Amino acid sequence: MAGGRVQLELSRVVQGRARLGVLKGLGRTGQHSLGIPGCLLYTHFGTVPHLTQETLHTITNLPSVTQVTLSHIAEHQEVLEEFKDGFKKFAGLHDTVLYCSLHDPASPCPTGYTTNKTASVWGSGGRIEVSAAKFMALQKTVQPDWYQSMADGETWQAGASRKRVRKSVDRTLAHLDECLLLHQKSQELDGTAVFGVVEGGDVLEERVRSARETAKRPVAGFCLDGFQTDAMDGDLRTQLVTAVTEELPEDKPRLLQGVGRPDEVLACVEAGVDLFEGFFPFQVTERGGALCFRFDIHSDLERAGEEVQPNGGPGCDDRTQATHFEVNLKDKRFQDDFRPLVEGCGCYCCQNHQRAYVHHLLATNELLAGVLLAIHNTSHYQGFFRALRDALAQDKLDLLKKRLQMGGEEN
Ligand SMILES: [Zn+2]
Repeated sequence: MAGGRVQLELSRVVQGRARLGVLKGLGRTGQHSLGIPGCLLYTHFGTVPHLTQETLHTITNLPSVTQVTLSHIAEHQEVLEEFKDGFKKFAGLHDTVLYCSLHDPASPCPTGYTTNKTASVWGSGGRIEVSAAKFMALQKTVQPDWYQSMADGETWQAGASRKRVRKSVDRTLAHLDECLLLHQKSQELDGTAVFGVVEGGDVLEERVRSARETAKRPVAGFCLDGFQTDAMDGDLRTQLVTAVTEELPEDKPRLLQGVGRPDEVLACVEAGVDLFEGFFPFQVTERGGALCFRFDIHSDLERAGEEVQPNGGPGCDDRTQATHFEVNLKDKRFQDDFRPLVEGCGCYCCQNHQRAYVHHLLATNELLAGVLLAIHNTSHYQGFFRALRDALAQDKLDLLKKRLQMGGEEN
């Protein structure tokens, strides 16, 4: 029952691990599907920041799964209980699959607040302690189609002791068992899918144990936690993710939490990951950036010059700093740049406005700046995932990798 009706149909597995396929039977009525590799739609309390539902739906190829986080919802439990009809209706969401995660991937939460029986989430009013009973009571009021089981994910920072990591794996398994028990007794959650959480910090043996034990439970899929971009060296992440995915059943999806940079997404797809959280375009939008990296795998790469080096630099792992996948439209050099954000982009922003105009909106703190950037960045990021699936289908992963190394240097 906790597995819901999610079905994964794999059409190709490239180089032994990178998976191309479709998740089918999503949502309470099973009418939705999602291509993998894919990403979820990132929201704050059900809303893509800056965009109304109407504006959002001007973007083509939106993911069919919307992510909300308990950290945004927990403090509104009484209101949702009173409302009775679930979060989807409360937030005016139509025609989407609702996934509820524990934390917001764009807001790392403070550590030191978990116990054997509780985890903590941080809302706008501060910390809220959640036991498994409260966690499940919240899920009953949210009524998601999928949710992430409760977890102790506080071992993502480097330097967590082996003993602490082992405890986090044990606690997370105990939370999962308790959640599954309550889930199976709940009529409200009939048809809802549970994703078990794989922990284990940077300890290989604990990662493997966590994956093996979680896979024994009746879950619909797996969340790989503790691999956040600024927490772990890329090579170590790839090595650990590979070890984890080798332990997981092939017929269930793997969602990697906290990783969104295009080059890191690609590396993790090669390590066997299917799904990602879509917070990266939001972070770029908040710093006044426009995604401009290239992912076209159909034109001639040689002509574009393979020698160009990425300009991300060592500081680009910091979530607050620009990556080489974007341009900072606050920069004065854009004040008389009358090109669209990206030549050939079909989004509303690029079809109707130029860089100079968005620069002006940013310089004068106009709300429309965030709206236009959110439209373009969401659209561009989804385009990247489409290209990733095409590259897997056409054996062009290496070409896509070269494209990503070039970033947006021509801009
Ligand atoms: Zn655009």
